[in-house]
Amino acid sequence: MSDKKEVLICGEVKGEKITTITKELMTTGRKLCIDLNQPLSLLLIGQNIQEAANEAILLGADKVYTAEGASWVESFPEHYVSIIADICNQTGPSIILFSQTDMGRDIAPRLAARLGAGVCLDCIELAIDPDTKSLLQTKPVYGGNAMAVWASTNNKPQVITMRPRTAAQAEPDTSRKGEIVPVALDVNNSMIKGKLLETLQEDVKGIRLEEAKVIITGGGGIGGKEGFQLIKELAQILGGAVGISRVPCDEGWMPAGHEIGQTGHMVSPDLYIAVGISGAPQHLAGCSGSKCIIAINKDPEAHIFKEADFGIVGYYREVLPVLIEKCRNLLA
Ligand SMILES: Cc1cc2nc3c(=O)[nH]c(=O)nc-3n(C[C@H](O)[C@H](O)[C@H](O)COP(=O)(O)OP(=O)(O)OC[C@H]3O[C@@H](n4cnc5c(N)ncnc54)[C@H](O)[C@@H]3O)c2cc1C
Repeated sequence: MSDKKEVLICGEVKGEKITTITKELMTTGRKLCIDLNQPLSLLLIGQNIQEAANEAILLGADKVYTAEGASWVESFPEHYVSIIADICNQTGPSIILFSQTDMGRDIAPRLAARLGAGVCLDCIELAIDPDTKSLLQTKPVYGGNAMAVWASTNNKPQVITMRPRTAAQAEPDTSRKGEIVPVALDVNNSMIKGKLLETLQEDVKGIRLEEAKVIITGGGGIGGKEGFQLIKELAQILGGAVGISRVPCDEGWMPAGHEIGQTGHMVSPDLYIAVGISGAPQHLAGCSGSKCIIAINKDPEAHIFKEADFGIVGYYREVLPVLIEKCRNLLA
């Protein structure tokens, strides 16, 4: 194991490029490295990732581990955990960072168990205590109604997932130099318990919810598939993404991949418009990090109004056409 500890980011690539969410992690990782006086490393697993590795150095990585192999979606969690655990056992990172994405949520707890490390999911802020140098991890609790700060207290590595859009994307610096270290994929296949039967394309078009600056979400109050036309129209005008609560998902009005909340996506857009949504804690858990929430609901007593920055009491079929026209004119 190396003497010099490092902060390790487990990055994600899409279409051979580093994802914007990983670029946000690089900003967070760089800040921690400065406070800890440690180098920043990034691990990339996938095919044709050389260009992404070069880009990562310009974005702030001192070292990039590249493992040429199947991408996470085509692979198995056991496979990824083995690769990352091997690297951690060789390099001894102090902090291992993932994004709070499907991959991060799946891999981080398994990796922590494998390493005997601590784990904290869905953090929105990380800082280093200047006196103790321990990692302070802030995350929403009680469905986003309170923030908790944990401090790591031992010398074990700490595994973290960070909620997307909680940091700006790292900007490239063309003068930066770094090292690219290819790592061999030496995975024991007997550890892989699953068997890939079929790959289904997620039925979500347009901007990914975690990356969207604007999200228009429809809930049970929309009342059926057809009502989502208005939601989609407003999202299109504002350059945003469409979200749903549990009800449209259970009723089959919209694909499940759009669900926001405790069991869906965790989002932090600049603007979140909640239409026909009651404001259940399980839903708010996924959107309370939004910078501005506007609620549209026919019931003035709906709980969502307690969480919203602005509220419109009314029937969505009356409110949305006016809002759509206003936005269209303003943005024309
Ligand atoms: C373990 C667990 C996990 C869960 N995870 C999630 C999750 O991840 N995400 C999630 O969303 N839910 C989740 N839920 C479900 C959650 O508890 C709520 O049941 C759900 O969020 C309710 O959705 P809703 O507010 O859209 O619908 P409803 O409760 O049906 O509320 C509809 C709202 O629309 C308003 N309305 C009705 N008609 C109109 C109209 N024409 N115009 C304007 N407003 C109107 C009503 O006043 C009401 O406030 C979970 C539940 C459990 C138990």
